[in-house]
Amino acid sequence: MIEIVTGIAALAAAAVVAGWLARRVALRRGEDEASELRRRVEQGEQRLQQSDAQRILLEMVIAAMGEGVLVVGGSGRVLLANPRLRELFSAPAALEGRSLLEAVRHAEVVDAIESAVAGGVAQVGDVTLGPASERTLRFSVAPFPSRDERAGAVAVFRDVTELRRIEAVRRDFVANASHELKTPLTAIRGFAERLADAELPDATAKHAVEAIVGNAKRLGALVEDLLELSRIESGSVPLRAEPIAAGELVQRLLRELDPRLRAGELESEITIEGAGRVIADRSALEQVLANLLDNAIKYTPAGGRVAVQVRPAPEARVRIEVEDSGLGIPRKDLPRIFERFYRVDPGRSRALGGTGLGLAIVKHLVQAMGGQVGVESQLGDGSRFWVELPAAPAIQS
Ligand code: ADP
Repeated sequence: MIEIVTGIAALAAAAVVAGWLARRVALRRGEDEASELRRRVEQGEQRLQQSDAQRILLEMVIAAMGEGVLVVGGSGRVLLANPRLRELFSAPAALEGRSLLEAVRHAEVVDAIESAVAGGVAQVGDVTLGPASERTLRFSVAPFPSRDERAGAVAVFRDVTELRRIEAVRRDFVANASHELKTPLTAIRGFAERLADAELPDATAKHAVEAIVGNAKRLGALVEDLLELSRIESGSVPLRAEPIAAGELVQRLLRELDPRLRAGELESEITIEGAGRVIADRSALEQVLANLLDNAIKYTPAGGRVAVQVRPAPEARVRIEVEDSGLGIPRKDLPRIFERFYRVDPGRSRALGGTGLGLAIVKHLVQAMGGQVGVESQLGDGSRFWVELPAAPAIQS
């Protein structure tokens, strides 16, 4: 009996101890959890403070920017507009939540932003603000990377009024100077040619007159090229877009250049893949191809080859390549080859009657027709100039 009582007492004591232990463990766990919780709250607060600081910094940067910034959400409502944007567009103070049209009140800009939001494609352009301000803004609109419910775009506007004014002054100066040079130059050339036809007393005089004629011709070509560049840049001669069979145009040009090809002992070849029809201005395209073929002939020594390929390119374009087996262009010169007056070898170019403006004209004309131009070349290994233009829709039979 005593044993049973002792046993029960021992059991009870054990239960008490176990209970006490369990409470201690639970208490410890509770304390651990509480401190873990405290640690997390502190971390969270720190992170919140950091992100607050980042947000404030970002807001300060955007507010201080010299460019107007407009952020638009997928619904076309303004999410953010900085003070510069409100100033540029004379927009009301609180733009957030308003419609795009209320913010910029300019159909062209609204269209660009809406297409960036809807199509996810970046847009760039110039816009001239109303007669009151006469300001020109360069805008670039970048869509948000995600196109789900967080669709939207960021538009940045830069005031380029002064830049465009200086560009126009430079353009006008070149155009006016070339125009002024043209009249006296025509007279010099005319008189020199008359003298060259006349009986001259001695060889020195004959030689001098020939030199005057030759140089007047060169100067004339230069003036014509400068005037042409000014005309293209100012957009004073509007381009007329029409479907053109590029392959046939190249064939005709090659036929016309046949005497020069023969004189240079050059072979020519044309390959046309697909319809080869482009949307372009006829005389501009002719000028582009004539310039590229002229260069190919000029810079290819006797025994060489000039080949033209016309073929379809991605994104509904047609690619025209003018390839030659000539001198080639050093790698370091390639990025600058389309700049005006940039020549690899100025002496050679001048000797061959070049003005250094041909490729600049090519680039301007191709860009004005909505196309692209480029070159692949290696010194001593020929050159391949390419032009890509929008393809004309196929003719329905
Ligand atoms: P240029 O009147 O001097 O030919 P362009 O603007 O047409 O002027 O060309 C600029 C320069 O590019 C040329 O001076 C020449 O150095 C180089 N170039 C153009 N086309 C070719 C070519 N097919 N092969 C080698 N060099 C070329």
